[in-house]
Amino acid sequence: MRGHIGAGKDRGMEMAVIGFIGLGNMGLPMASNLVRAGHEVRGYDTSPDARDAAVARGVRIMAEAPHAATGCAAVITMLPSGAAVRAVYAEASGVLRAAPADCLMIDCSTIDVESACAAHAMAGQAGKRSIDAPVSGGVGGAAAATLTFMAGGTDDAFGAARPVLAAMGARVVHCGAAGAGQAAKICNNMILGISMIAVSEAFALADRLGLSRQALFDVAANSSGQCWSLTSYCPVPGPVPASPANHGYRPGFAAALMLKDLSLSQAAAAQSGAVTELGAHAMRLYRDFIEAGHGGDDFSAIFRMIAERSVS
Ligand code: NAD
Repeated sequence: MRGHIGAGKDRGMEMAVIGFIGLGNMGLPMASNLVRAGHEVRGYDTSPDARDAAVARGVRIMAEAPHAATGCAAVITMLPSGAAVRAVYAEASGVLRAAPADCLMIDCSTIDVESACAAHAMAGQAGKRSIDAPVSGGVGGAAAATLTFMAGGTDDAFGAARPVLAAMGARVVHCGAAGAGQAAKICNNMILGISMIAVSEAFALADRLGLSRQALFDVAANSSGQCWSLTSYCPVPGPVPASPANHGYRPGFAAALMLKDLSLSQAAAAQSGAVTELGAHAMRLYRDFIEAGHGGDDFSAIFRMIAERSVS
């Protein structure tokens, strides 16, 4: 091991050997930023295309997942689902066994709180520290190293993870104990899903009332209707030039991923007894949108479905 995370004075500048499992749309740019920061990154992905792309970015691709953990100061996972994370953490995969005793396990995937806690438990049983650290900021934030990390775990694990996460993001927030990062992520994205629908409905209503979109934007952006879905990610073309609405609703953040996050928040609400009626309705609307074939569109394209329903 070239460096030990969490030791030394200038923890953010250390070089370490870091394992990275899951080199997809998010994982690849995140791993690239670790390489850029001077870390040696040992990567693994089940997809040959993802492996080839990672080699081109300076990631050392390993033949098996456990090899990506051997000799590492930290192992990061960036995987599509709770099932995938559980599979990598499970005894049978050999990843936790291959990782050194002081290795820190960091899961950055967006997954259900239950799977996140199960992953922490498996890491703990193997004697490893762990944190859940899902991200906000999307593919653009991953490429620019401006992600926000929401972390759950002990103070010790968080302190060790912070310098690694800081190389891939602009903000690293310790949200609480194991699973708290995932809890913060799904609460935030429930707000986002609901607010995008609220903004879309307001523009659909404005269209029916003959109010110009720019006029609604100019008023609401400076009034109590102001929110990120309006001012940074406006779902109609025009007012915010950088928003996906001006670029054919190319993601950005795909509608299928929004449905995934709303489904996770509804599952957590059902399990915890929270009443989240707008969250449930937002999930149903996104499901309709995806069943109509729009899972690959940016999630702000839900405006089009809402506007079409208003016309019929
Ligand atoms: P992706 O599908 O592009 O990448 C996932 C990668 O994991 C794929 O390359 C896949 O081959 C690999 N993989 C799956 N199972 C594996 C296994 N067992 N071992 C090794 N590799 C495996 O997904 P993504 O967009 O990179 O998203 C990753 C995670 O980040 C998800 O949990 C997602 O919800 C979350 N997220 C995504 C975004 C976004 O905008 N894309 C934003 C925030 C959070």
